[in-house]
Amino acid sequence: MITSVHLSRPENYLSIYQSGCNFSCRKCHSWYFSKIRDGRWYSTEDVLKAAIAYEKSVTLVEPRQKATALHAYDTCRCCGSCAVDGNRSDLCPAVLDPQAIVLSPQGLGPARNIVAFTGGDIACCPEFYAQCARKIKRKTNLWVLLETNGYGLIPKNLDYLKNAGVDAFWLDIKAFDSEKHKWLTGCDNQHILRLPEEILNRGVCVGY
Ligand code: SF4
Ligand code: SF4
Repeated sequence: MITSVHLSRPENYLSIYQSGCNFSCRKCHSWYFSKIRDGRWYSTEDVLKAAIAYEKSVTLVEPRQKATALHAYDTCRCCGSCAVDGNRSDLCPAVLDPQAIVLSPQGLGPARNIVAFTGGDIACCPEFYAQCARKIKRKTNLWVLLETNGYGLIPKNLDYLKNAGVDAFWLDIKAFDSEKHKWLTGCDNQHILRLPEEILNRGVCVGY
């Protein structure tokens, strides 16, 4: 179930927001669609159509190793200054032409060549992501990113997703301390803390 699909800021890529989550965090930033069902059912073909449409609007082509949200700051801080009044702000990295800055529901910035799944988290249903990744990689030149709390990324699923073509993971690790993690999310974090190493060992990009 997908709540919305749009070019998000400050990540500057196409974000697919999923309703539902395998955690019940005490301080959820997206409670209104992760804890309450909101949206419509998407098939993997629907996701592919959204990716194909988005690719036509890409204004910044990034290498695979810059597919996470963190790398968005290297090129634009989404102030909109160059597009609105023709001047760069003091924090501008001065990398992009103003023509690369486009308006989206969350503000101004470039459109990077990345499609990301975010949410809500359903990484414990890897078949959905694998099917989407295979289709997107076959029909577009977009990088595929999965933003996740990490709980569904057991080694078997990591191998499966990597082989399906997922290019990068963004790990939203809720706490490094195991007791705090359990208190915040209701779940253990032992295997989550090993994930950066596990992901890098598989040649997939990771940020956290
Ligand atoms: S993992 Fe993220 S979306 Fe899910 S409950 Fe926690 S904060 Fe909310
Ligand atoms: S490229 Fe434009 S919108 Fe982005 S940080 Fe620079 S001035 Fe702001």
